[in-house]
Amino acid sequence: MSEGQAADPTADVALLEEAEAVLEGLDVALRRLEDGSYGTCELCADPLDPEELRARPLTRRCASHAAAGGSGV
Ligand SMILES: [Zn+2]
Repeated sequence: MSEGQAADPTADVALLEEAEAVLEGLDVALRRLEDGSYGTCELCADPLDPEELRARPLTRRCASHAAAGGSGV
């Protein structure tokens, strides 16, 4: 009767989805590096806060648009 350590299958799914979101973010970031739009908001094209970029290199939106929905990556 050892059910205390049973893995939660939904936790694995959440981890996978998080990893997929990161991979997708990387893909987008690489493409934006190539076309020169990296570091700008994808909605208003304003330059992103360098400190925010350093903390979260996959950030694609400025502060005012980051909260306006989307995946939040
Ligand atoms: Zn913006």
